[in-house]
Amino acid sequence: MPAPLLLALLALAVLAPALLGWALVGPARPWRDEVAGALALVGFAALLLEFVLSGRFRAVSGGAGIDRTMRWHQLAGRILAALLLLHPFFYTLPDGPAFHRPDDLTHATWLGLGSAAIVTGMLAWFLLALLIVMAIRRDDLPYRYETWRGMHGLGALLVGGFGLHHALAAGRYATHPAVAAALWALTGLAWLTLVWVYLVRPLALSRRPWRLAAVTPSARAIWEVVLEPVGHAGLDFHAGQFAWLKLDRGPFARREHPFSIASAPAEAGRLRFLVKEMGDFTRGIGALPPGARAFVDGPHGHVCLEGRTEPGIVFLCGGVGVAPALSMIREAAARRMRRPMLLLYGNRVEAQILVRGELAALAAEGWLEVVHVLGEPPAGWRGETGQLDAALITRRCATAAAAGWLFVLCGPKPMLKAAQTALRGLGVPGARILAERFTYD
Ligand SMILES: Cc1cc2nc3c(=O)[nH]c(=O)nc-3n(C[C@H](O)[C@H](O)[C@H](O)COP(=O)(O)OP(=O)(O)OC[C@H]3O[C@@H](n4cnc5c(N)ncnc54)[C@H](O)[C@@H]3O)c2cc1C
Repeated sequence: MPAPLLLALLALAVLAPALLGWALVGPARPWRDEVAGALALVGFAALLLEFVLSGRFRAVSGGAGIDRTMRWHQLAGRILAALLLLHPFFYTLPDGPAFHRPDDLTHATWLGLGSAAIVTGMLAWFLLALLIVMAIRRDDLPYRYETWRGMHGLGALLVGGFGLHHALAAGRYATHPAVAAALWALTGLAWLTLVWVYLVRPLALSRRPWRLAAVTPSARAIWEVVLEPVGHAGLDFHAGQFAWLKLDRGPFARREHPFSIASAPAEAGRLRFLVKEMGDFTRGIGALPPGARAFVDGPHGHVCLEGRTEPGIVFLCGGVGVAPALSMIREAAARRMRRPMLLLYGNRVEAQILVRGELAALAAEGWLEVVHVLGEPPAGWRGETGQLDAALITRRCATAAAAGWLFVLCGPKPMLKAAQTALRGLGVPGARILAERFTYD
């Protein structure tokens, strides 16, 4: 789905319960009480839609890019938390039946918080505050990523459940059946997402198993992982895309990690990945037994060359970030598509350079130029030295920028930032820049 359409649909769904309540339920209360109710409904609808946004649905994230939808998920999480945490402080009306007028079924002159609604409201409030702190400070917590993700999902589910009870039992707008139906519909969508992610998708994966054909060292602390399809034709993907891998475990395992596909689609069947040792999972990758079962959830990602008509392509890659570029370069080589390409490839030391021989052989054909940049070069090094920073990128890319080439970026965050600054300085419009981030933060 294209990003503007997705944003418009999300905005409509977020505003729907509050707009319905505003249109259907009267009379108006003091403005602060109206704001308090609207904050709660908008925040709660956004919270329920967060499940869909983070569910890795290709129909949802395909157009905008999964990294972008995950960034929206994080930003929306902060905003909705602020709305929901603020909402109780806006009320001016008194609570309780003492102020209840018999004709006032819609809580126009009182709040009507029953004791159960007070409890669920407070539970949702405190849990949400904890959830958001744990999301923002994730890297400082002593949990594995998977443990954190499980707690994050469960926490959101509980906040959704308590919040729904609170909204239906105490919410003024939710006294109208149309508003209650909208809240139930969004809750149902959130629950369906969970059923899809934890049941339907793993079941689909189980029908398309893979086998770990080989794991071999490729450069310092980087492994090449090769997967073979078992009983099916493999994955239909575009060069530059990535997949979530479950290695040496079943399709229902929660442990899975995203990796860019480094092989070309033209290499039908097998998939190759380049995996850098980072944490507990990737450090053990070299010990995985050949023949182990594997499952591939993909393809995902919007960094690919399909439909791109620019006269040439520049790849700006740091470390293992060269993987998606390699897939595109290998595809161009296999299909003999000789569009000019320039690869600026940064590493700290020479031992980290991946597939150096293969790149040199392709460069010898004349359509690909490879520029190695080393932070700590050995004696006698003849390539570029230092970081793949704004100055180097500006110097090396000015001609390509002026000639209207496409720029494909993949690497650590500081490198991506430097590249984007340099390209903006060279007048390259955002539409001519594709960037893949290896983290969602
Ligand atoms: C789109 C994309 C493509 C990637 N492609 C490659 C690649 O080609 N080669 C490569 O070496 N690395 C790639 N990565 C990074 C790789 O996924 C992480 O290095 C790996 O998951 C770390 O796992 P760990 O348990 O060893 O380390 P940990 O120390 O547990 O994790 C380090 C960081 O990796 C991220 N991470 C860990 N597990 C997951 C997960 N299940 N889902 C999302 N993020 C997670 C988190 O940001 C975490 O803070 C890619 C990441 C993304 C998002």
